[in-house]
Amino acid sequence: MSNHHELNATELNATELNATELNATELNATELNARRLPGFDARLAQTLAVLRNAAQAHAGHIVQATSLGAEDMVVTDLIARHGLAVPLATLDTGMLHAETLALLPRITQRYGLPVEGFSPPAEAVLHFVTERGERVMVDSLAGRKACCALRKLEPLARMLQGRTAWVTGLRREQSGDRGDVAFVEADGPGREKINPLADWAWGDVWHYIREFDVPYNPLHDAFFPSIGCAPCTRAVALGEDFRAGRWWWEQGAAKECGLHVHHSAPSTLESTAS
Ligand code: SF4
Repeated sequence: MSNHHELNATELNATELNATELNATELNATELNARRLPGFDARLAQTLAVLRNAAQAHAGHIVQATSLGAEDMVVTDLIARHGLAVPLATLDTGMLHAETLALLPRITQRYGLPVEGFSPPAEAVLHFVTERGERVMVDSLAGRKACCALRKLEPLARMLQGRTAWVTGLRREQSGDRGDVAFVEADGPGREKINPLADWAWGDVWHYIREFDVPYNPLHDAFFPSIGCAPCTRAVALGEDFRAGRWWWEQGAAKECGLHVHHSAPSTLESTAS
């Protein structure tokens, strides 16, 4: 998959491979991205402390809202490995890739943990598609947002009912709009959003995946760093912006679907994490 990308010197140095090796090798996402970066052990310890504190502070009222992307797989592995009482849930929008859905049984098989799926109401989807068409997401920004509201925001609201905290895989590095993501953020009245990988680099994520043999979506091997619904996700070139493959026709618009309108006020939970 690598030889259709033109690499510049920075990218070559970053991969620690020379051009000959890159052209001759089918690199998977782990080989391409995993780095043991300075401070990784401290970041991992901090992440675990944030997760432990959140699991205790919100016992019975917390959920990991996993997108099934690389970051969320790391978080799931940490939850399972350390026996944290954080159930797993995902938004099944009805538009996910087969490769993404195939992770669900793999997670259950590997960790013995179920992943609860939250889907939009079938009748509402049928009505929406009949009224607005199959290509509503590319016809206009309003149409795309209406689709995200139906397929993501409404199911998310149901997922979060009765919960006082949800765990995400957000990282500051993912985009400029996420540059101030805190480990713990206020998320409306009586709820916190826990972002235990807030200060992780992409190399950290893949270093962890390599070290702990974490299952991941094979689309990452096909240059999909950020994976969402199939019609709204494409591969990116090496060095391209992390979220360039999401809603790529919306040049200049924030690459967000409304799930992560974050509030940056840290709570006391963050200050107790060490
Ligand atoms: Fe619809 Fe695309 Fe949003 Fe998925 S990402 S809910 S397909 S607009």
